[in-house]
Amino acid sequence: MASGNAIRGSRVGAGPMGEAERGDAAPRRFIGFYCGHGHETMPSFAADAVVPEYWDCPRCGLPASQDKDNPPPIPRNEPYKTHLAYVKERRSDADGAALLEEALQGLRDARGG
Ligand SMILES: [Zn+2]
Repeated sequence: MASGNAIRGSRVGAGPMGEAERGDAAPRRFIGFYCGHGHETMPSFAADAVVPEYWDCPRCGLPASQDKDNPPPIPRNEPYKTHLAYVKERRSDADGAALLEEALQGLRDARGG
């Protein structure tokens, strides 16, 4: 009866989703979880299952809580800076241009010009 497309479409690795059970004998309840990005997911739990405090958002992977107004904070997960980014941070543009020119010159020399 219920359209389980959302759940069926998402890959559930380790979760208390007892989909293996046949039939809908066991009463289920849907618990809404909300992540820091405002995504809403509604995994179903057996009536006697312990509902976890947090649930991994299937869309962005962030932890989601049942408190819509106070979702878990989004962890500051900054991407790794590239070496170039560090260089740019330390040096002025002029220095960077000089370095680039130096590198190019080195390449030309290496080619045996
Ligand atoms: Zn999310």
